[in-house]
Amino acid sequence: MQSKFRLINLVLAVIVLFEVSLFLQTSTAKAQTSPFLKRPYYGAAVNWNAVFDHHCPDYADISANPTGTCSEQKTYLYTYPDPDQHLNGLGRILKYDGQNAISCFGGGGFCYSGHTGYDFDLVYRPVVASAPGVVTASQWWDPNHEMGYGLYVLIQHVPNYPTHRTLYGHLSMVRYAQGMQVGNWQIGTSGTTGNSTGPHLHFELQYTPLPGIWRPKDMYGWSGNGTDPWQSWQFGVTSEWLWLPLPGREQTPPTYYGDFVLDNDDAYYPNSFVLGCNAGVGAGNCPYWYLVNNGNGYWGDLRYTLPNGTTADYWARWTAPNLPNTGQYEVEAYIPYWDINNRSHAVRYEIMYQYGTHTVVVDQHDVGNGAWISLGRYNFSAGSIHHVRVTDAAYVGGYVDPQNDTKKILVDAIRWRKTH
Ligand SMILES: [Zn+2]
Repeated sequence: MQSKFRLINLVLAVIVLFEVSLFLQTSTAKAQTSPFLKRPYYGAAVNWNAVFDHHCPDYADISANPTGTCSEQKTYLYTYPDPDQHLNGLGRILKYDGQNAISCFGGGGFCYSGHTGYDFDLVYRPVVASAPGVVTASQWWDPNHEMGYGLYVLIQHVPNYPTHRTLYGHLSMVRYAQGMQVGNWQIGTSGTTGNSTGPHLHFELQYTPLPGIWRPKDMYGWSGNGTDPWQSWQFGVTSEWLWLPLPGREQTPPTYYGDFVLDNDDAYYPNSFVLGCNAGVGAGNCPYWYLVNNGNGYWGDLRYTLPNGTTADYWARWTAPNLPNTGQYEVEAYIPYWDINNRSHAVRYEIMYQYGTHTVVVDQHDVGNGAWISLGRYNFSAGSIHHVRVTDAAYVGGYVDPQNDTKKILVDAIRWRKTH
């Protein structure tokens, strides 16, 4: 797939002016950080769709830096070593000018001025924290859900690397709220929210050269001719190779040992999918669980309701009636391709599993032609009543933003995939 992904930060950055002497002291300090990052996804290396722009990886610098702009049409091509084997050991070429239509490395794809990280070719796949830390943001980039990084997660790598944080952009699902501690496990599912033209993961490393200032940093380091141009910019930071050595940066990919799918209004398991509301259960008691039977849902039909602010009046529940074994399952929700402009941006799924309940937030609006969205891996015991539930409270608690969303909450199929 040849897709072009763009992240255009239309952010009115607050420009703080510091003394030049302070800047010079900072810019000459060499950071020496021991590698600590694992790949932000499961399994072996995947292709890039776009790479880090060393010329000016920050649109804020268009106004911040008086000596240059990010829109210069220069062509800088650098051949890089390829320790990550993205290009079968042939080396990679990094281009960091403003001409975004030119292929920037041998594996195909694009790069463009202002890009602050790496775009990994991950189509609705689990996104994994690249190092332990604390979630400092799990939200929408803007209240209208259409700009920048979309639904994104930011993790500050305290306590061991407090001057570094990683950002995971354009997600379709987030699994942790701000303030939560995470390890090397799934924090979301890739997607195409925000300013994006196709599902991928925007992965970005940020470093704080001064308190309160965070700047992008290339975790693949710099090996072009001369000094890293980004380092010489005001508050530019030193690029460093920060990936742990193989196999340390591998994340264990799941192996699936069979799927179990439960659709809405499933005729084979009539008691396993239940519609509910304050008035009772069943579609008769809960008339605002509308049925859409036009072939767009998984196995044809789907249900929807409208959000009810912060209170859950309506809910839908899938109880897995015959999971074959006790153990770990990847739980996925099917998002049907229907009424694309009126689907909710933040549907709360509650996964009730062996050790409690976990809530994730799924963007249904930006999913393309129907897709399975991973809700994470959980332990279930065979024959238990553990289930997945969706409510009409689209925005509650610490996730995403508090803006009321009037768009439709769709419910369709849930899939349990045995992993361990
Ligand atoms: Zn990107």
